[in-house]
Amino acid sequence: MQAESSLGKLYLIGAGPGDPELLTLKAVRVLRECDVILYDRLIGKETLQFARPDAHLIYVGKHEGEQDHTQSKIFDLIRTHALVGRTIGRLKGGDPLVFGRGAEEWALALEHGIEVELIPGVSSAIAVPGLAGIPLTYRGVAQSFAVITAHCHQGRTEQWSKYAKIDTLVILMGVRNREFIAQSLIAAGRDGQEPVAFIERGTLPDERIVESTLGAVAAAQIEVQSPAVFVIGEVVRLRAALTFPELENRQCLRA
Ligand code: SAH
Repeated sequence: MQAESSLGKLYLIGAGPGDPELLTLKAVRVLRECDVILYDRLIGKETLQFARPDAHLIYVGKHEGEQDHTQSKIFDLIRTHALVGRTIGRLKGGDPLVFGRGAEEWALALEHGIEVELIPGVSSAIAVPGLAGIPLTYRGVAQSFAVITAHCHQGRTEQWSKYAKIDTLVILMGVRNREFIAQSLIAAGRDGQEPVAFIERGTLPDERIVESTLGAVAAAQIEVQSPAVFVIGEVVRLRAALTFPELENRQCLRA
């Protein structure tokens, strides 16, 4: 039994992009230790199977527009459970510190004297394109990449010029604003003929890949569903050499 004064511990756990086999060994071990698991929208049942049968599983997924409201509820849950000495697993998609507000939860927990341990995860930003046959770097083709979110760039065109010269761009949370993103990048100097790919629900059984050009995205010709990783750059052409389309059961469209 724990002393009354001892606070619980918070584990910030990366769940990877969806395929449960992409969890780390450490994540699986720690999930078994947690009394409470707070999990996000993109976390599947197969990942939650590693929790103890008696663990309290709490869904804290966020929908657009309710981000701040839900975030303060998540902070409250962390505090409440830590105060009674529970071990809390905060299970986040991909890597907890890539656009997941994981570092904010980490800082808040520390402010309240709660011990925090990070269990890094396989980020969708790198693994999802890779498994689709799109390496983010390749000798002679791409020496740099950037991972960006479109959320905070609405209306701020000057931001896009920063991305005009980076070889490979990976855009997360970019499905809804894809036309605006593509138009802004072309206005900032990227070529409309540049190849792009969207990988929807990467690593999951119903993964779907759409290949196209930046210009076609800008012209609203591409249908995609969230969640998807949006990759822009010459590396997209490498798919042809790195995949056997006839052996794949995934859907692949060239639009
Ligand atoms: N921390 C996460 C990213 C959170 S932002 C990570 O490191 O992967 C959420 C965005 O990630 C989604 O909008 C989508 O762009 C991307 N994403 C996460 N999982 C995905 C998946 N399985 N397939 C495609 N995109 C995914």
